[in-house]
Amino acid sequence: MPKTIFEISSPGRKGVTLPKREFDTPLEQLIPSKFHRKAIAKLPEVSELDVMRHFIELSHLNHFIEKGLYPLGSCTMKYNPKIHEQLVRHSCFGNLHPYQPQSTLQGALKLLFELQQDLAEISGMANVTLQPVAGAQGEFTGLKIIEAYHRSKGNTHKNKIIMPDSAHGTNPASCTLAGFEVIELKSDAEGKVDVEALKAVLSDEVAGFMLTNPNTLGLFESQIREISDLIHSVDGLMYMDGANLNALLGIVQPGKIGFDVMHYNLHKTFTTPHGGGGPGCGPVGVVEKLLPFLPVPMISHNQDGYYLDYLHAETSIGKVHGFYGNFAIMVRAYVYIKMLGPVGLRRVSENAIINANYLMKLLEDHYHIQHKDYCMHEFVADGTLQKKAHGISTLDIAKRLLDKGYHAPTIYFPLIIPEAMMFEPTETESKQSIDAFADAMIEIAAEIERDPEMLHEAPLCTPVRRVDDVRAVKMLDTRFEIKD
Ligand SMILES: *Cc1c(COP(=O)(O)O)cnc(C)c1O
Repeated sequence: MPKTIFEISSPGRKGVTLPKREFDTPLEQLIPSKFHRKAIAKLPEVSELDVMRHFIELSHLNHFIEKGLYPLGSCTMKYNPKIHEQLVRHSCFGNLHPYQPQSTLQGALKLLFELQQDLAEISGMANVTLQPVAGAQGEFTGLKIIEAYHRSKGNTHKNKIIMPDSAHGTNPASCTLAGFEVIELKSDAEGKVDVEALKAVLSDEVAGFMLTNPNTLGLFESQIREISDLIHSVDGLMYMDGANLNALLGIVQPGKIGFDVMHYNLHKTFTTPHGGGGPGCGPVGVVEKLLPFLPVPMISHNQDGYYLDYLHAETSIGKVHGFYGNFAIMVRAYVYIKMLGPVGLRRVSENAIINANYLMKLLEDHYHIQHKDYCMHEFVADGTLQKKAHGISTLDIAKRLLDKGYHAPTIYFPLIIPEAMMFEPTETESKQSIDAFADAMIEIAAEIERDPEMLHEAPLCTPVRRVDDVRAVKMLDTRFEIKD
């Protein structure tokens, strides 16, 4: 383990020059004495170079996309262009205040307005709210819109949402939070929605169907027209979990194939550094008949310019976040969309799909893959062969990958594939980097044959070995205490 900054400390060393004080009033008079600290903690005494080396070293203990491939399925850990960071830090964005008069915010409002429009065009929806700050909050918002739609028609008995058993955990959680009952549908042998099973649970109480497309197995739900016809026949609404939109840009518009409401994960598809719980942005798009229920304010435009639009406040589900949501992420998404344009966005998805299929082919002789004919932007392999032959679990394989300098794939999700490993290389990886990653996976398969015991010990090269994942999450302790 590297030394702490306190261990590097050396008396008298310093790395800052404080600016000269610009006022004469003694500090004691500026800050009331009750706020004065009695004892000051011992501070490290270090030079600028000490600090730089310390934090650069610390940053390398973690994995990040600039360090290596990050195939965390469903999370779309693509490379985030640095020009976004430069632009979003520009003072014309950074110095804005949400309480400024609208007349002085025209540029920012125009950006939001155009982003609403671009996202609507990409998905074939009528309009989009930018307020929700995560995919999960987008789900909650979309479900509240579904509830408001049914209530507006007096259909308060519609309280069930159907979803397949491959759904992401946030789907049933959002339904429960929004007051719906979840009907879980078993997937068919091909890993897709079982239409016969759907017919069996269809009733007038069904408020909607929640589906990820492509689904969490990386497969395109091709029976979408049949499914949406069935749901619409009982006046249910089709919700699309758009976390996998990276496979559809410029190829499929969800609003044109039967979906009524969907969320986008701007931080996944439209690039923002994410992970570690945020920040995120989960806009929600709806078809024409759901426009009255969108959160307020929307951003609209008339002859006087751009403005915060509260016109449909009476029918709206209300506000779902303070101010306008995570503005900085919207700026990044806007820049990303404008720089790529329609042709570029389509190439993003095409390359994401090609890369995933290429990686799947490279691995298919070494790991079991349940659905391996063709995948969209990600696929699910599993460790069942290794488990059966040598008692090696997917967790062991994931830990060994860390030794090889890679982030692990998503493991044990989706729940319907035992020992699942979900790979999403994304479009930003080259053939060389995918080849190198596949080599690492193939090497691990060989190591398991040779020396299965070693796999149980992995990771061997990381500063912290195998941690108790559950305790690390539930009892996270980030405090550093100085012991004299
Ligand atoms: C990431 C993800 C979500 C949740 O999105 P957050 O932005 O993490 O809240 C929902 N569904 C699927 C399929 C996802 O991959």
